[in-house]
Amino acid sequence: QKSSPAQTEFYQAAEEVLESIRPLLESDKRYLDANIVERIIEPERQILFRVTWLDDQGKVQVNKGYRIQFNSALGPYKGGLRFHPSVNAGIIKFLGFEQVFKNALTGLSIGGGKGGSDFNPKGRSNAEIMRFCQAFMSELYRHIGATTDVPAGDIGVGGREVGYLYGQYKRLTGNYEGVLTGKGLSWGGSLVRTEATGYGAVYFAENMLNSVSDSLDGKTCLVSGAGNVAIYTIEKLYQVGAKPVTCSDSQGTIYHAEGIDLALLKDLKEVRGVSLEEYLKTHASAQYIPVADYPKDGHAVWRFEAQAAFPSATQNELTEADAKALLANGVICVSEGANMPSTAKAMDLFIEAKIAYGPGKAANAGGVATSQLEMAQNASMTSWDFEKVDRHLQSIMCGIFERSAETAKEFNDPTNLVLGSNIAGFRKVADAMIEQGAV
Ligand code: NDP
Repeated sequence: QKSSPAQTEFYQAAEEVLESIRPLLESDKRYLDANIVERIIEPERQILFRVTWLDDQGKVQVNKGYRIQFNSALGPYKGGLRFHPSVNAGIIKFLGFEQVFKNALTGLSIGGGKGGSDFNPKGRSNAEIMRFCQAFMSELYRHIGATTDVPAGDIGVGGREVGYLYGQYKRLTGNYEGVLTGKGLSWGGSLVRTEATGYGAVYFAENMLNSVSDSLDGKTCLVSGAGNVAIYTIEKLYQVGAKPVTCSDSQGTIYHAEGIDLALLKDLKEVRGVSLEEYLKTHASAQYIPVADYPKDGHAVWRFEAQAAFPSATQNELTEADAKALLANGVICVSEGANMPSTAKAMDLFIEAKIAYGPGKAANAGGVATSQLEMAQNASMTSWDFEKVDRHLQSIMCGIFERSAETAKEFNDPTNLVLGSNIAGFRKVADAMIEQGAV
């Protein structure tokens, strides 16, 4: 029942999960008897707060802050913070809901949460970003803690923002504890956390392809986005012998047939924070397609010939028409680095085509899994080397693939990892909820 019409993305995410767990609910009556569906779609707690901060002109600015603590059956709430002007209660709720099942799928002890603000970091000075983060944490600190709720980054929240948020948490509470993940390496961060989501999406794609005796080696790949997930997806694609030929930001798309220049991309986005259009200054042979020239029914980034695609920007960035174009152009593998990047109709097309399709909650779980490894290192006051964390990440991604694939097989739909990952994630959380009673 849709009681909040403003929560479009949440309904999209919930319908997808509820539709695919139908065979489980029909075969095992315990879940309906315990009223799990009604309980699981209701967040345990939603916090909405005012964030007031001073801009560089001395004017008071006001934003909305959110934290949703969706489900703690498996462990402390865990999930990122997103700072983007599109953030609203429905977006945070969909992200929190997805996070519950994603975290369960990792096999680690973490519950699901998410948060953020409609604050737009674009064009803001470093000092403004810091004051905003401090103001945001001035309310958030009373709701989080190393064993209760551990936020991380997401769109618009990277290492710099996590640093400012952490500094304010420490000032307010006096506690030096692993209350955030994605921290700096010299003060509690974990190696591989920066790379984890992108690397994980590529590991997941390799697992899918290996299971049909194929691999990414030699494949041409389309990647969307130009942020944290996209950059480290591209880096890992090169390492496994593939050729990424696109990237995109909110202004336009780059197509470079020779392969994206990763060092340049990092410089443009991680160092200088400028538009992708600048890419052409170094590579005149590349193509830049501004948003104004995108096809009416979709996105330029999905309209090139390739064998694999890695959506790594944002929700609903891959439409039904985009999915048709991908399939017509030879794509046999889609691994979602972003959360819910494919629309419901696009997703249906991938499932029907029986390609290697890894939905976000399985394919992008490497980020949160490595965050949990950061928590483990903090709790034991140790820090692991790069190879050790990367090994754990690879084995977690392999575990997620196997759990999803085995569950899909169990329910007689062996290529459908949407069904497999939704049922596997749901079952783990639901079983814990039943064992913990009506709480
Ligand atoms: P970043 O902020 O680092 O990068 C986001 C990228 O996507 C930017 O290139 C941005 O363009 C583009 N983008 C964002 N919003 C839009 C939009 N509405 N329209 C077009 N382009 C857009 O974020 P991340 O890379 O961290 O996150 C990307 C996706 O991955 C999100 O869906 C996030 O939830 C998901 N994710 C991230 C994880 C992580 O560990 N970081 C973990 C799991 C999932 P521009 O530069 O112009 O703003």
